Amino acid sequence: MKQFGFATSKSRTIEYEKINSALISYIVENEPSFSSCMSCGSCTATCSAANLTFFNIRRLNMQIRLGEFENIRQEIDKCMLCGKCLLVCPRGINTRNVIMLIKKGLVTFNLVE
Ligand code: SF4
Ligand code: SF4
Repeated sequence: MKQFGFATSKSRTIEYEKINSALISYIVENEPSFSSCMSCGSCTATCSAANLTFFNIRRLNMQIRLGEFENIRQEIDKCMLCGKCLLVCPRGINTRNVIMLIKKGLVTFNLVE
C-alpha cells in the first residue's frame, strides 16, 4: 500500500462493510427518489422543526446512510410533517414520506430501544 505520510484518525474511519444498511435499503426501496439526495441542506434551511429545535433532517439523512440510529430515535418525533421541506428539495424528494418510512423502519427492523 502506498504511504502518504499521514493516516485517517481511527475515530473518523468509516467501515462500510460493518454499517447496518437495513433502514436505508428500506427507505430507498419505498421512496426511490431518496437515493438522489445531494445533501444540499435546503430541507433543513426551511424546516419548521429546525427553527424551534436542533432537529436537522440533512444530518438524519447522513446518519441513516451511516447506520447511526441513536440520534435518529431521539430526534425523529420533532418533525411536524408540515411538508415544507419537500416543497424546496431541488431533487424532488418526498422528504415527508422519508420521515414516515424512517418511523416505520425503526419499528420494523427493531431499531427502537
Ligand atoms: S433538500 Fe433534498 S437534496 Fe437537499 S439535502 Fe434535503 S433531501 Fe437532500
Ligand atoms: S415535514 Fe418535518 S422535516 Fe419537513 S419541514 Fe416539516 S418539520 Fe421539517
